[in-house]
Amino acid sequence: MARPILATVDAAAMAHNLGVVRARAPRAGVLAVIKANGYGHGLLRAAGALAQAEGYGLLELESAVRLREGGWRGRILLLEGAFDSPELPIIARHDIALVVHCREQIGMLGALPPGAALDVFVKINTGMNRLGFTAGAAAGALAELRARPAVRSVTLMTHFANADDARGVAWQMDAFERAIGPVALPRSLANSAAILRYPETHGDWVRPGVMLYGCSPFAEATGAELGLRPAMTLTSGVIAVQRLERGDTVGYGGLFTAERATRVGVVACGYADGYPRHAPTGTPIVIAGTLTRTLGRVSMDMLCADLTDIPGAGPGSPAVLWGAGLPVERVAAAAGTIGYQLLTALAPRVPVVAA
Ligand SMILES: *Cc1c(COP(=O)(O)O)cnc(C)c1O
Repeated sequence: MARPILATVDAAAMAHNLGVVRARAPRAGVLAVIKANGYGHGLLRAAGALAQAEGYGLLELESAVRLREGGWRGRILLLEGAFDSPELPIIARHDIALVVHCREQIGMLGALPPGAALDVFVKINTGMNRLGFTAGAAAGALAELRARPAVRSVTLMTHFANADDARGVAWQMDAFERAIGPVALPRSLANSAAILRYPETHGDWVRPGVMLYGCSPFAEATGAELGLRPAMTLTSGVIAVQRLERGDTVGYGGLFTAERATRVGVVACGYADGYPRHAPTGTPIVIAGTLTRTLGRVSMDMLCADLTDIPGAGPGSPAVLWGAGLPVERVAAAAGTIGYQLLTALAPRVPVVAA
């Protein structure tokens, strides 16, 4: 028998989640963000499931070219733009739109072949302070870009640092308006959290990522509570059972000590599969359809689950690590991280199948 671990990816769930984006932002075009291998779901799998979007946003030029070679004719936006000049002719040849976030990238446009026509998203730094032109530099950058014959269109873009928390977006929206002044150009501002919480950010192009995969961008709500369906379910199985006496420990470091006679199920999933090693005892896991908890330290290929109150469970019983029936957000919260990280960390050794 093969090792039982498996990630099941549900294209219908992604299409449903795209529908939730449309319902929230009915007037905006959707650039479905499929960076990081489609948030762990597979680039082409995610692209196929989300083909009703007007375009895709991602980072890697190679992936963008793969989409074009696969026949995708809609918009593709490189979210961090070009990393060096030799990429520019490739970008132009495949009609890929790109972010320009710094002076060096304006300079790279000189590497475009004659006659090139490029769609540019100018990134304005409104307080995230990673990428983008500051308020003082934005007007100059805009003027320079609009003066270049190779630039066919300019869209204004920014990215929110606190759309998922109490600080919100108003302070960055103000900074955005101050930076661009009276310039009237298309806008792309909103990530998943802003799409769900701040309609005033929707503009012309929204950029949903994590919500398309059914995961909530908010700490205080699961995807299901937002009407989303999980696109990835990570399952495995129990491969052995141990009985602990009171005082026995389990796993590396003996981090869990039994306080009573305890049945332990050893599940074929570890950190080399992408499960977080820092998930402590008590992280939720479903075994044979019953919610229980992990015990002790996650190891490379295995983790342990408490079967004491699931007498019917044993070797061969199915395990759900996250997904349908167990929100990835809950597992992530128990491990002190976010669903984004768990989804994108799915390891290449885990087989992925369509639902
Ligand atoms: C990743 C990314 C997004 C999507 O963010 P989510 O929180 O996953 O919706 C949007 N815009 C940019 C620029 C990004 O890098």
